[in-house]
Amino acid sequence: MKIAIASGKGGTGKTTVSVNLYSTFAKFFDKNITLIDCDVEEPNDALFFKNRKLISEKEVQQIIPEINTEACTFCHKCADWCEFNAITIIKSVAFAEINKELCHSCGACLVACEYNAITEHPHPLGVISHFDTGIGNGLIEGRLEIGSSMQTMLIKEVKKEISENNAITIIDAPPGTSCPVVETVSDANYIILVTEPTPFGLHDLKITVDLLRDIKKPFGVIVNKAGLGSNEVYKFLDENNIELLGKIPFTKAYAKNYASGTILENVPENIEDTYREIAEKLVTKQLQQ
Ligand code: SF4
Ligand code: SF4
Repeated sequence: MKIAIASGKGGTGKTTVSVNLYSTFAKFFDKNITLIDCDVEEPNDALFFKNRKLISEKEVQQIIPEINTEACTFCHKCADWCEFNAITIIKSVAFAEINKELCHSCGACLVACEYNAITEHPHPLGVISHFDTGIGNGLIEGRLEIGSSMQTMLIKEVKKEISENNAITIIDAPPGTSCPVVETVSDANYIILVTEPTPFGLHDLKITVDLLRDIKKPFGVIVNKAGLGSNEVYKFLDENNIELLGKIPFTKAYAKNYASGTILENVPENIEDTYREIAEKLVTKQLQQ
């Protein structure tokens, strides 16, 4: 079972839920579980595993074309074929350039050029690391190269590392509702949306619910920082027939543990019970599939 953890905005507790659910499953249910950090712009799941050991690390490259202006006739065909507006050709000043930030490495321009003026070159896209976390099968993390905007491309590479032998895979998605999120949740069996009971939380939850209904994915909601804010989130879930998987109560002490990176060492009993109940619900869903 692949379970993706998503949220409409950052700061709702998506990482907290991901690492706690991984830890709860590994401790009480099934040790054959892997955690995947697909929040590639800011991966921080690893920080919460104090005894983590780096097992392997590999650099991932993106192939980006370059135009040789000596061979180029400035015919503009490559720019016409590029779906991502990454190519600028200005014939009057003999200018031809490919924007690395916009290029999606699709190779269309290479096929389009009839003058052999385009060559391909590797550029760093990011790093994929495997960690032993001391529990479960461990953590796989994608970390995007600074300055790169190709989150989706790296997430696809990270997902290739997921073993089909895992009983459970927990995937921490990037925040928001853009392409990297869709890529992350696309082959998950179930999605957990993490929200908070505030107007901002509700606003972003509504957008994410619309997205998941559009792509027809089953999902449920965890309300983090329960006890703060208002009841509007619960009203929305009720009115829209959305399953509330659990409520993680807000306590100052637990927020302090998050800040010091010790949420897995010092889980209050009521919060641990909540995660166990959520894990039980997920196991039941798995059995019903
Ligand atoms: S590889 Fe694809 S995206 Fe990149 S410049 Fe060529 S056509 Fe555009
Ligand atoms: S298709 Fe080839 S020759 Fe034409 S503008 Fe592009 S690089 Fe230059």
